[in-house]
Order: sequence, then C-alpha cells, then structure tokens
Amino acid sequence: MPLVVMKFGGSSVADPEKIQNVVRRVKEKREAGNGIVVVVSAMGDTTDEMIALAQKLNPDPSEREMDQLISSGERISAALLAMALQNAGLKATSLTGEQMGIITDDSHTKARILQIRPDKIKTELAESAVVVAAGFQGTNLKKDVTTLGRGGSDTTAVALAAALDADFCEIYTDVDGVYTSDPRVVPAARKLGRISYDEMLEMASLGARVMQSRAVEFAKKFSVVLHVRSSFKESQGTIISEETDDMAMEKVVIRGVTLTEDEAKLTISGVPDRPGIAATIFKAIAERNVNVDMIIQNVSEEGFTDVSFTVPRAELNKARQTLDALLPQIKAKGVKADESIAKASIVGVGMKSHPGIAATMFDALSREEINIMMISTSEIKISCVVEKQVGEKAARALHSAFGLDQEKD
Ligand code: ADP
Ligand code: ASP
Ligand code: MG
Repeated sequence: MPLVVMKFGGSSVADPEKIQNVVRRVKEKREAGNGIVVVVSAMGDTTDEMIALAQKLNPDPSEREMDQLISSGERISAALLAMALQNAGLKATSLTGEQMGIITDDSHTKARILQIRPDKIKTELAESAVVVAAGFQGTNLKKDVTTLGRGGSDTTAVALAAALDADFCEIYTDVDGVYTSDPRVVPAARKLGRISYDEMLEMASLGARVMQSRAVEFAKKFSVVLHVRSSFKESQGTIISEETDDMAMEKVVIRGVTLTEDEAKLTISGVPDRPGIAATIFKAIAERNVNVDMIIQNVSEEGFTDVSFTVPRAELNKARQTLDALLPQIKAKGVKADESIAKASIVGVGMKSHPGIAATMFDALSREEINIMMISTSEIKISCVVEKQVGEKAARALHSAFGLDQEKD
C-alpha cells in the first residue's frame, strides 16, 4: 500500500471547521487506498500566543521550559484531529514526538533531529490506523522535550517521510504553492510549477516562510520530493525536487524575491583595529548559539573601526547582552541595536552564469530611492538590508525589475 505523509500548517487547523476540512482530505486519501501519516502544527497563532504569555511571566525564560510550553500546541491539534477522524469512522492514533521516536540534539528551541525510531508508527500503520503526528517536536537523550525551530512541523513531515520511506510527502498550507515571492507582499507574484531544492532552500532561508529551510535541507539530503499545495483547493501545487532538465532549460536567471523582517542589526563602534578582535567577538556570539548573518567592517580610521552584523530578532537580546559584557575586554566604545531593518533578496541558480545581476538589483532599488545599508552575495543569491518601512516596496521593485511579474489580463 502506498504511504503518504500529509502535513497541515497552523492556519489549516485553526478552528473546528478547518479541522473538519482536514478530515475530509485525509478520508479521501485513505479511501483511495493509501497508508497515511498526518503531521499537524499548532492551531492558528497558538505558538505566538504562548510565547507572548511566557514573556509576561519571565522576559528571559529558560529554553527548556519554552520547549515544554510550545510543544504542547501541536499535541492539542494532533489529539483533536485524531478524535475528529475517529468520529468520521476512521481508525486514528495521535502520537507525540517522543512516542514517534524522534530523537534530537540538546539545542532547545532549534533542535536538530539525530535519529528516528519509528517502531510505534509502523505498528499503528500495520494496524490500519491513520497516524496523527504532533509536528515541531522531539526529545533529546536526556528525555527533555525539544522543538525544531519556528515552522518546524515541515521538518517533522519530511523527516518522517524519509524514515518511513513514504511514497509522497505533501505540504498543505494556506497558499496554493510556492510563488515567485510572497503573494501577500507582491500581488503580481506567480505560482511556480516546480522549483529545485537549492533554490527553495535559499528562498526559505531568506524569508519565504512557506517552507522551513531545514525541512528543505532534509528533503534534499534524503531525496524526498515535496508537493506544496492548498488545504482548501484541489489544484496541483508546486513540486520541490532535484533540478530537472526542463527547469534547467527554462533558463530563468532569477527564480524569486524574498523579504524578511525577522532580523536586527547590531553595531559595535570604536573597535580597536587589530588582529584577533573579530575572532573574539564572533566566538563569544557563537558560544551563545546565536546565528550571525551579514557582517560589515568599516574602513579603519585612526586605528578604530565599526563592526555591524545581523542576527535573528528573536536572539537580539542574547547577542546584545554578550556584546555588552565583552566591551571592556575588547575596549570598544559602544553597542547599538537597530530593529527597523528588512532584508530583500533575489534568488536564482541562473545567476551563476549571468553578469550584471547585482547592477540591475541596485539600479532597481535606487530608482525607488531606497538606500542600501548592507549587501551580501552567494553563488545563487544577492541580499540587501534596507530600512524596514521600505522593505515591501523593495521586494515589489525587484520582482518587477527581473521580469517576474504576472502578466495582467
Ligand atoms: P503554515 O501554517 O501552513 O505552515 P506558513 O504561514 O508557515 O503556513 O507559510 C505560508 C505563508 O508563507 C503564506 O501564507 C505566504 O504569505 C508566505 N510566503 C512567503 N513567501 C512565499 C512564497 N514565495 N510562496 C508562497 N508563500 C509564501
Ligand atoms: N507551531 C510551530 C510554529 O508556529 C511550528 C509550525 O507551525 O510548523 O512555528
Ligand atoms: Mg509554516
């Protein structure tokens, strides 16, 4: 019997009616003769609400307790969906991360899966039950609950598909596929029929939250083909797979444009310009497990320089505290944080063989009088940090400048 992993995100299980919609879709698949593992996220904005609640009681809560708290959202939706499936006449069992044997490292709130021991899932499937998996969670070797980073139910789905050697992995969400840009920000965005792992990975890590980047990384590593599609419409969505000949033949230079407002910029001023200082700063930041993205060091004037870098907004406090503690040691003048930034990026494997892409990007931004604060490039992307208030305008300008806009009829 073919095995299908179906993942439904928060907006697809937000209320009882939406859960009934999931029941209908699962029932159809089941009656078509498939074994089913359904992965669910927490209902609606539950995770955000729990994080806000925690902040009211402790502005700097322990990450272990955060995981205890936020992993519960997915358990609620899994149990509710299993009940609703049973009420519709299907055999169904909900399972937590621990029951599914999802073992992770110790990195609370952004843990990585080390291993899956899916014996219990296999037993349930063999007994013809629909397995309803609570997404986003696992346990470490100390038996503490861990979570897999925001959007982590996508990773649960892909990891289970790989561990169970599933025939299909479908990601059901509130858009009908992957678009050239977030359709909420760029109304002219177009739905893509297919996209390669590499391009999706880059778009996801640069802010296209339709897929969590780690899930795409996992899918590429284990060759899990993904189908991103609408929970509410029957239409075909977007296939994410290894680059195929027809994708290569399309000769698209830029596949998509992304925007993220989830980062903040830190600037350390008056840093003595001598060997070892950058190493000291970034070693201290790394020891707190904070991911640094862009780094800029200004030209030195009279032996002093400024160093700016971006970090996830959620880790700004941690990074700032680390730097404040470090200032006397590195003898720098001060630390400033800027939260009003956005990062607009263009992504495309075709960039490798096309000169002039950066020039077109900067030109498009300058025509809109948008000032660029930081730039970073890789083989297949260019990112610019701009002021937050012009971020959306920047994304629309880039989308149009690279000919991605949908033709108006
Ligand atoms: P889910 O709750 O199903 O996991 P998410 O909110 O995490 O859903 O992701 C879906 C959202 O991602 C869409 O509503 C859309 O606004 C946003 N998004 C950002 N970039 C893109 C893109 N390139 N294509 C499609 N959706 C995108
Ligand atoms: N509920 C978690 C979050 O909001 C995980 C997920 O939705 O995939 O990030
Ligand atoms: Mg998501």
